Amino acid sequence: MSSDFFTNKTILKILDHYQSAWALSHLLSLSAWDSEVYMPEKGTKYRGIAQAKTQTLIQNIVLDSNFQELIKKADDENLNIYEESIIRLLKRETKFYKSLPAKFLEEFEHTTSRALLSWRKAKEQDNFDLFSDDLSKIILLSRQKADYLGYESHKYNALLDQYEEGSSVEELDVYFEDVVKFIEELLKKIVNSDNYKSSHPLSNTEYPIELAKTLNLNILKILKYDPGKISLDISSHPFSEGLSTDDSRITTRYEGFDIARTITSTIHEYGHALYFLQHQEAFNTTPLYTGYSLGLHESQSRFFENHIGRSKEFINKLSPLLHKLSRDYEKFDANEFYKYFNLVTPSLIRVESDEVTYHGHIYIRYSIEKKLINGEIEAKDVPEVWNKHYEEVLGVTPKTNQEGCLQDIHWSMGAIGYFPTYSQGTVFAAAINERIAEDIGNMSDLIHEGKIDVIQKWLFQNIHQYGATYIFEELSKKLTGEKFVTEPWKRYLSNKYSDIYNIID
Ligand code: MG
Repeated sequence: MSSDFFTNKTILKILDHYQSAWALSHLLSLSAWDSEVYMPEKGTKYRGIAQAKTQTLIQNIVLDSNFQELIKKADDENLNIYEESIIRLLKRETKFYKSLPAKFLEEFEHTTSRALLSWRKAKEQDNFDLFSDDLSKIILLSRQKADYLGYESHKYNALLDQYEEGSSVEELDVYFEDVVKFIEELLKKIVNSDNYKSSHPLSNTEYPIELAKTLNLNILKILKYDPGKISLDISSHPFSEGLSTDDSRITTRYEGFDIARTITSTIHEYGHALYFLQHQEAFNTTPLYTGYSLGLHESQSRFFENHIGRSKEFINKLSPLLHKLSRDYEKFDANEFYKYFNLVTPSLIRVESDEVTYHGHIYIRYSIEKKLINGEIEAKDVPEVWNKHYEEVLGVTPKTNQEGCLQDIHWSMGAIGYFPTYSQGTVFAAAINERIAEDIGNMSDLIHEGKIDVIQKWLFQNIHQYGATYIFEELSKKLTGEKFVTEPWKRYLSNKYSDIYNIID
C-alpha cells in the first residue's frame, strides 16, 4: 500500500500486517454503532461476548512476535513524520495490550455491557441502587487498569492518558482552576446584567418530530454535507462513529420540545463526522485513522456547534427554517432565536448546558472521578458528592439522580478519564476561530456569505488531513505557535456575551 506518505519498507510491512487489526476494529466500531442505534435491547449479552472476543483477536495481532520485531526495527530507521507517528501509536497500543491481561479485558467488557443495561434501568426508574454495584465494579476495574498500565504520582493519570496522550492531574488541576475562575466571574456579570433572563419561552415550545428530522437534514445541507458519506440516525445519546473517509455515522435525538437541543447535537456530531471524512485517504486502514486525540476531535465538534451553529449569522439562516416548524415558532424573529440558542443559565444537564457553564459540568465530573480513582470516595457516595459539587460550582441542586449523577452514559461504558477532553476541545475551538480569522477572514463574514466549504477546506489543510499524526499539544503549537492556552477562549466568550447581555466592564 505504498503512497506519498509511507515509503519505508519496514513501515509498509507493518501496515500490511496491521490491516487485519484495522478490519476488526472497523467492524467493532460498526457493532458499537449498531448497539446504540438498531440492536434490540436484549441483544446486549451476546454482543458483549462477541466484542470481547474480537478485542482479544486484535490484541493477538498487535502482540504477534513478528509484528513486534518489525515495530522495533522501524523504530531505529529513518522515518518521516507520518511513519514516526505510526510507530508512536503502535507502541501505545502495544503497551496497552501488553499491560492488560486478556482475562482482564474480557472482564472489563462483560462488566461494561452489563452496566450499560443497569445504568439505563437506573436512569429510567431514577434508582441509583440499580447501578451502584456495577459502578463500584467499574471503579475497581479502573483502579486495577491504572495499576496495570503504570503511572507517575496519580493513579488517575494512567486513565487520563488513555484518552489524551500526556494528560495529567497536575496539568488539569491548573487548567480547571483557571477555567472555572473565569466562568464564575463571567457568569456573575451575566446574571447581574439588566438584560438577564434565566429562561426563554422557546425552551418549552413543542415541535413536530417529523418536521424536525427534515430540518436537521436541511441544516446539514447548509453545512455542505455529503449525503453519500454521512448518515443521520436516532439514539438516546447522540454520538458519531467514523468508519472510513467515505463513511461517517451521526446520531441525534428528538425530545419533542426545545428544538435547540436536537439542532446543536446534530451540528456537533457533524463536526466529528467531517473530521473523520477529511483525513488523508491513505490513512484509512492505518493507526493514523483510529489513534486520534479526543480533545482535538472535540475541538472540531464544538467548533461547528458553537462557532458556526450558535453564531448570529448561522441563526439568521436558520430562522426561516424554524418558522416552518409551527405557528409557535413564527412568533419569534432571528434575534430572538439567537438569544434562545445562547441563553446562559446554570443548569443540571451537561449536554443541554450553555457555552459558559458547560465547563463547570466537566470540572465536577473530573473532581469526582479523581476522588473515585484515588479511593477518597466509593461508588455509593457518588449521588451525595455529586449534588454537593453542583451546589458549590453552579449553584443548582439536582432533585433526582436522573438529572444528577445518572445523566451520562460514560461511566457505564468504563470511560473514566474522558471528560476533560470535552472542556479542552471546546477551549481549543476558539483558538481555531482566531486562526481562521487571520488566514481566510472573519468567521462571521464567512458564515454570512455561506462559505462553509471554504472553512471546511481550511480545516482539512490545517487539522483534519493529519489524522492522528500529531498529539493535541503538538498540533496546538503548529497552529498557534504556542502550547495550549485559554486566552482565545476567554476573549471569545467575553466578546460574545458582553454583546448579548450588554455588559460594560
Ligand atoms: Mg463530541
